[in-house]
Amino acid sequence: MLRHDKGCAAVQKHTTFSPVTLITPTASMSAAVHGGRAKCLQRLVRLDLPVPTTVALSFAAVAEIARGGLSDVTEILAPFGDAPLLSVRPSSQDPDWGGPGAILNIGMNDARHAALSQTLGEATATALYLRFVQAFALHVARLDPEAFDLPGEPTAVALSRMLQAYEDETDEPFPQDVDEQLAEVLRSMARAWDGTTARLLRQAKGAPEDAGLGLVVQEMALGVGQGLCGSGVIQFVDAATGAPQITGRYLSQSQGREALSAPSGAIYLTRDPRGPSLEDDAPEVFEALCTYGALVRSRLREEMQIEFTIENGHLRIIDAVRVHRANRAAVRIAVALAEDGIIPRDEAVMRVDPGALSEMLHRQVDPDAARDRIVSGIAASPGAATGRIVLTADEAQASAARGEPCVLVRRETTPEDIRGMHAAKAVLTVRGGITSHAAVIGRGLGLPCVVGASDLEIDRKHGLIITPGGRKLRAGDIITVDGTSGEVLAGEPAMREAALDGAFQTLLAWADTFRDIGIRANADTPKDAQTARNFAAQGIGLCRTEHMFFEGDRLGVMREMIFANSPEDRRAVLTRLLPMQRADFAALFEIMEGQPVCIRLFDPPLHEFLPSDRAGLRDLAAQLALPLAEVTARVEALSEYNPMLGLRGVRLGITVPEIYDMQARAIFEATVAAHGRNRMVVPEVMIPLVSAKREVELVKGRIDAVAAAVQSESGVAFTYRLGVMVETPRAALRAAEIAQHAAFLSFGTNDLTQMTYGLSRDDAGRFMSTYVKQGVFPEDPFHSLDIEGVGELLSIGAARGRAGRPKVVLSICGEHGGSRSAIAFCREHGFDYVSCSPFRVPAARLTAAQLALLDREELQVESEV
Ligand code: PEP
Ligand code: MG
Repeated sequence: MLRHDKGCAAVQKHTTFSPVTLITPTASMSAAVHGGRAKCLQRLVRLDLPVPTTVALSFAAVAEIARGGLSDVTEILAPFGDAPLLSVRPSSQDPDWGGPGAILNIGMNDARHAALSQTLGEATATALYLRFVQAFALHVARLDPEAFDLPGEPTAVALSRMLQAYEDETDEPFPQDVDEQLAEVLRSMARAWDGTTARLLRQAKGAPEDAGLGLVVQEMALGVGQGLCGSGVIQFVDAATGAPQITGRYLSQSQGREALSAPSGAIYLTRDPRGPSLEDDAPEVFEALCTYGALVRSRLREEMQIEFTIENGHLRIIDAVRVHRANRAAVRIAVALAEDGIIPRDEAVMRVDPGALSEMLHRQVDPDAARDRIVSGIAASPGAATGRIVLTADEAQASAARGEPCVLVRRETTPEDIRGMHAAKAVLTVRGGITSHAAVIGRGLGLPCVVGASDLEIDRKHGLIITPGGRKLRAGDIITVDGTSGEVLAGEPAMREAALDGAFQTLLAWADTFRDIGIRANADTPKDAQTARNFAAQGIGLCRTEHMFFEGDRLGVMREMIFANSPEDRRAVLTRLLPMQRADFAALFEIMEGQPVCIRLFDPPLHEFLPSDRAGLRDLAAQLALPLAEVTARVEALSEYNPMLGLRGVRLGITVPEIYDMQARAIFEATVAAHGRNRMVVPEVMIPLVSAKREVELVKGRIDAVAAAVQSESGVAFTYRLGVMVETPRAALRAAEIAQHAAFLSFGTNDLTQMTYGLSRDDAGRFMSTYVKQGVFPEDPFHSLDIEGVGELLSIGAARGRAGRPKVVLSICGEHGGSRSAIAFCREHGFDYVSCSPFRVPAARLTAAQLALLDREELQVESEV
């Protein structure tokens, strides 16, 4: 597509365009000057399709008309003969940018009405005249629509009433002169393009501020007459799936033309048991349509919807527009065009919006379904799911055990909620931003999630949620979370199923051949890893091991470890976690089949593993056989004013080293086991929240010792890579010395953003929308990588890291990892890979390929210049 546009721009330099151009095969025309519709019509003319005479007005000509510069229309009317009947349609550069509605039957007047009454019959002539007067009154003279309703029947009385209404409203008779009619139509359409609404609408669709409008004036092909007559549209793919299928509609003259209201019966395009079809009634016309369809597809290199009329058995092609398509269809169409040799593979890759892939991976609310919106928040994890409201993780688990789908609604989630999240079909939180706990876990699990729905109130005591409008929904009521739009809906709207078909896989396989940066997945569990593998991630870029400690009965052991009184006791308790962690890592190695697996050592503050409410504290006291007061005091002693900046990450690794020792042993023993199965694994061990070189030295010393011990115990030699997570500004600044001890540096942009801005990632959601609305931040920096600030730290960190160790492997693994801007940034700075949630991997693969192709094109254009 892009190449094509550039081609047009190149032509523009060397060609002069006339403001009014008769569309012929050789006329000088381009989409950038006359608009996409005009250019498309020229292509149809070049293919020798029976297109009625058409004249194109350039953007410049239309702009001049809007400024009042239309003196006469003689030149425009010249090709159309003495008594023309014309249509005028918009022709913007990209058809998606819209434009004013078409005006048909220009030229209808009393004389023409009388003449057509003779040839076509009075009813048909009257219907044409009525439609034109109505369109002219509403869209050109901008009169009150009420006076111009179309009557049920096209009678002489109705016509004279409408003409009189026009005269009453304007104090002038309806214009009879075709020159005057056409001039007025052109002026009104040209001015409509400059209206505020039209401007805003097209800019929302990506049109530049100075987007131009062209117009095409075409001889009407009425589709009325004596013999077989009618009109319709035809397309050759299903717009929902992209599968080959003839669809469209056809109105025969008797159904469509004379009747002013919608016809009741139908003539089908293709053979149909329900009634007569064009294929049966006029097989040669139908065949010609199919032949034109195939020709247009291959020469215009696109699936087009063709508008046609049949006049006394003769086919006329009025227009062709790109078939509007669902995302799933867009993928299938692009792949089919490439497989048929019509477009090259790289173009197919460029034609699909990566966002469309993400949508295909999840169930979605049917776009046609009614939406009973109860609240909105941040769209944190795409897809939609319906379930009964539950307000605690325990209720979610109980609901899942009963086989009842549920939606977990929480003020915010904490690691304690993880099992409830696993059990729920979707998650809704009142607080939190795009990198909050609920959002990160939701994306990892592929669970639809809306966070930061700050207008929602939760009344736990009465088991209610209360919407901003005061509507109360009870626990047990059914709601739907639409994590794609950020809306929460009451009830259960119709859904569209996820649609991963062969075309999806094919397109991604092609994308991989163009891609020049690695794509890994953030995966914490075997299920995540399997998803990552299914989406062809090139390894795991971040395994957050702490999530494993919330599974099954591990939380209890973890709490015992926290309460241990000495390193020896701690080590003893951790020995019970060792086999579980070893099994976790062994499963990841097995699933990833030799692909790299980067395991991040324990990161969160220990306090997160402890209960916060009375009941939880009582349970814990019972479990540990300790007095409640002692347990409460210990929990309080562990709490911190600012836990995200407190005793976590490598700081824990240094002050409570037994945890990292156990994890390192589990990783290495799983490595040895994999070697035993002939699977060569080189584990990557990553240290979180580093800010000083000495931290790395200390941890490295212990991990090397564990590796040596496991090697000597097992008699198996293995290697491992030790890396550092760069997520404090200091680590980025000191990357040169840190890299001396690190085979890789992985930038954790969630914490790095938090610390660069001094902005809590869990609380930012409260005021982020105000900040973005007032232009303080262009976008939520937790959502869209802040290239100016955080990006500068990344580039400093990357450059200094390389200075310290030239071959250091660079990556990012924060939530930004799958976004277009982050992938572009990482390519530009020579990073080796990005790592993102498993469900974002397909879109990331496609985005990376598109960016590589765009670079290639730019290089090509530069060398051509
Ligand atoms: C990060 O900080 O970017 C990161 C990936 O780690 P986490 O989100 O677990 O803090
Ligand atoms: Mg982090």
